[in-house]
Amino acid sequence: MAQSLVIRGGRVIDPASGRDEIADVLVEDGKIGAIGRLTPADGANTFDATDLLVIPGLIDVHVHLREPGFEEKETIATGTAAAAAGGFTTIFCMPNTRPALDNVDAILDLQQRIARDAVVRVHPIAAITLNRAGRDPVDFHGLARAGVVGFTDDGDTTANSGIMRRALAASGETGLPVIVHCEDKGLAMGSMHEGSVSRELG
Ligand SMILES: [Zn+2]
Repeated sequence: MAQSLVIRGGRVIDPASGRDEIADVLVEDGKIGAIGRLTPADGANTFDATDLLVIPGLIDVHVHLREPGFEEKETIATGTAAAAAGGFTTIFCMPNTRPALDNVDAILDLQQRIARDAVVRVHPIAAITLNRAGRDPVDFHGLARAGVVGFTDDGDTTANSGIMRRALAASGETGLPVIVHCEDKGLAMGSMHEGSVSRELG
């Protein structure tokens, strides 16, 4: 027998169709069957969504799952549970794990962990440089084939412009974005606003 659920009385928002209204949503076999003022059949499963939003699954493109290496902060299980609780059904995870997501084996290992523990879709973003250290580039094309959705050194700048050039060339060839942390550590360390106070302090 088909499984159905009527989500009743929520604010239904769907940017793709321009919909924003209080309505009921019929879900049949995991798909939306109808939207509007619906009268559930006797004995139908219903969920009262009064004062709640009924929306397409949200996507977060910058998430730190911290696994492997920093499980005391977050794991794939806890991070994806938090995502689901907030309405996020797809997340992209950043490569500043230990070891970093800088090679195909690390991505394959992560994908096994995701298959085992994640409760929402998780797409990894690989590093631009080995160990995110800014010195040696990763295998962009191998990582693209392994299924990453982009490249970034996350909280660290890729100070070597030659490597950044290779990353951008690989981006053009693979169609995957390069995400840049824009901070020059040579400028950002120990600076202060230039003005009367800085002059007074010398
Ligand atoms: Zn970050």
